[in-house]
Amino acid sequence: MSDLIYRTLSEHTEALAKKEYSSVELTKACLARIEETDAHLGAFLTLLPEDALATAREIDQRRAHGEVLSPLAGIPVALKDNISTRAIPTTCGSHMLKDYRPPYDATVTEALKGAGTVLLGKTNMDEFGMGSTTEHSAFHMTKNPIDPTLVPGGSSGGSAAAVAACQTPLAFGTDTGGSIRQPAAFCGICGLRPTYGAVSRYGLIAYASSFDQIGPLTRTVKDSALALEAILGRDPRDATSREHPMPHLLNDMERGVNGMNIGVLSDPLVVAADPSVRLALSMAADTLRHLGATVEDVPLPSLRYATAAYSIMASAEASSNLARFDGVRYGLRAKTFDSAEELMCRSRSEGFGTEVKRRILLGTYVLSEGSYDAYYKKARAARSLLREETSKLLSRYDLLLLPTAPTPPYAFGAKKENAALRLSEDLFCLPAPLCGLPALSLPFGKTEKGLPLSVQLMGRAFDEATLLRAGYALESTLERRQP
Ligand code: GLN
Repeated sequence: MSDLIYRTLSEHTEALAKKEYSSVELTKACLARIEETDAHLGAFLTLLPEDALATAREIDQRRAHGEVLSPLAGIPVALKDNISTRAIPTTCGSHMLKDYRPPYDATVTEALKGAGTVLLGKTNMDEFGMGSTTEHSAFHMTKNPIDPTLVPGGSSGGSAAAVAACQTPLAFGTDTGGSIRQPAAFCGICGLRPTYGAVSRYGLIAYASSFDQIGPLTRTVKDSALALEAILGRDPRDATSREHPMPHLLNDMERGVNGMNIGVLSDPLVVAADPSVRLALSMAADTLRHLGATVEDVPLPSLRYATAAYSIMASAEASSNLARFDGVRYGLRAKTFDSAEELMCRSRSEGFGTEVKRRILLGTYVLSEGSYDAYYKKARAARSLLREETSKLLSRYDLLLLPTAPTPPYAFGAKKENAALRLSEDLFCLPAPLCGLPALSLPFGKTEKGLPLSVQLMGRAFDEATLLRAGYALESTLERRQP
């Protein structure tokens, strides 16, 4: 049964329904793989072997009694450690929350429990989602399963590594400015950021609320569609979530791209990307053309403001969201203090890491009197401009094709000391969150050294179906990789 771990989520879904193997067998295979690999890989922060096996047993029994179960019933899953899980540690990769066990489940956690998934554990991340490598986790770094000297990407690096290393067929991450798609690209798997509002943020510990979204990391596009269907929908507890009828994503997926209009991002910033990244992009464009789509180069001039606008707005929102961690109401409490002010000051100084402090400082500064107009207001104007340009493009094109990351995965430490350089690599992931649009990153080719390359598709709001359809068509032209 050890080969079970190499199968995809959709293969498991069918096999479990046909009782070819049980959820207990599958869960045991995943736990054995984790046991064998995770001391070295560091994808998980918390493991729940007993709970997982108990859930798997329960699902197997219900299936044996003839109960009709959801497609994800009995499927092992891992959740990023900023998604609340009742009575189970939810640390956000921070000392600030190292002892926190939420009293409630996030809506996504609840939906996954309701669907009968088997929670294996919680995955590592850059502290509060701030970073692109897991180097900013307060606990440890996660290695890239393809080459342990390389970063796995981030901030959902633990979730991406767990799926790429076949520790689990499915994991969920969160994407504020690329944190699902970039680690997916670095680990050679698929990552889907849903439309803003398509999935509830209730119980997701906030980084930047106007950007944050939860989404799946999987080994295939079809698996992403399956996983997304389980978490979609309006939630009265998240006022920004919306009900939006989506066609049955799986039915639609195999219809191909014939007749689709696709715009390929053409911009000096793409020209500046690594040659291997550009090659993957042009090969993907050629493939789509070959499959019957109309493919044209399109400019997006305001892309050059995206990094600045994102850093200002996300930091501003973070400074406000993270104000609640004061050692009084929430978070770690300093042991010694002489006044309420000192208690807060010490608790925050001890609880937060450097990157988080840097962003709180920046965010507080851009919101302060005198700087608000100069920075925050300008960032908002840039966001509006990007939204206008993108929506004009998407009225002509069904999808936009662009790189996910400007480079293949790089070594630990390579960008650690240079905050500006680190932020600039989020560039191609930023239009989707700045505009509230869905985007899918999928593997497409390899570098000469065998490192994974990916491309990104971005679509219209709530049109995940078209995104997945094109992703599936592209993926079908590649041979499936077995790690
Ligand atoms: N790397 C980006 C940042 O540090 C994106 C993070 C994210 O999407 N959570 O802000």
